[in-house]
Amino acid sequence: MAESLCSSTRNPFTGAEAPAAGLKVDHVSKSYGSLQVLKDLSFEVQPGEIFVLMGPSGSGKSVLLRQIAGLESPTAGSVTVAGKDPTAEETREQVRLALVFQDGALFNSLSVYDNLALYPREHRSGSEREIKDKVMHALNILSLGETAPKFPSELSGGMRKRVAIARALVMEPQLLLYDEPTSELDPVMAATISEIIGTLRNEYKVTSLVVSHDRDLALSISDRVGIIMAGRLMSLGPPSDLKDPKDPKVADFLNPRIDVKNPRFKHIQTQDES
Ligand code: ADP
Ligand code: MG
Repeated sequence: MAESLCSSTRNPFTGAEAPAAGLKVDHVSKSYGSLQVLKDLSFEVQPGEIFVLMGPSGSGKSVLLRQIAGLESPTAGSVTVAGKDPTAEETREQVRLALVFQDGALFNSLSVYDNLALYPREHRSGSEREIKDKVMHALNILSLGETAPKFPSELSGGMRKRVAIARALVMEPQLLLYDEPTSELDPVMAATISEIIGTLRNEYKVTSLVVSHDRDLALSISDRVGIIMAGRLMSLGPPSDLKDPKDPKVADFLNPRIDVKNPRFKHIQTQDES
């Protein structure tokens, strides 16, 4: 792990170096009304690290990503990205952070090219010619050059996930947050996406926080894995810990046993038997 950690990122387009951004989640809790979703979570992601956060559906993973991306503020505790408050306007200019949404969040009415060009156009970063070079370069990194004129609806699920990553890359990120990047993909495409996440980190040293259910992804590319259940961090350690989890709840999550006699299935059994 230590070998790949790095104090600076390499810009995918200019090759320029910029400080890599780590992040710190410090005693974060988040409630919506009376529902407490995140419960006193603390961990750090080191610059250049791939940190995978696993946990059952509804455990608070996407909510946590929203606090880190600065889209919401925690009810208690704090998040810092490269030492700064991610909700502050000036942080957005100083620290380049990109979030790859679970559903890609692509604009269906725009071509793949225009989806990628949207951010640099809005931020007036360069002439149309420079933007074109950047967009095509990002698409080519993800082997998507030929999709530029197509619309999201014409692409497979795996391609849409890759377009969403290419769009994040156009933001020249120092920190990439991925929400379930391999969900709803077949195992081969899921492995391809895992490989892409690992390659982007190795090539550009971008700090990567990956929320995922995918044990293979965690085992193959992560430096460390955190497991969140019902809003609490249950374990934190190297991916090898996943093979022999100490906490029984974590073990059940990672290696679920299917038992049709489980009372959960009673309703179905009763119907069958009647
Ligand atoms: P996951 O781990 O599957 O990503 P989420 O982080 O999306 O889970 O959600 C965790 C819990 O927080 C769920 O019970 C969800 O209903 C609740 N929740 C998420 N966002 C909101 C919100 N804006 N208002 C109220 N409850 C929310
Ligand atoms: Mg989620």
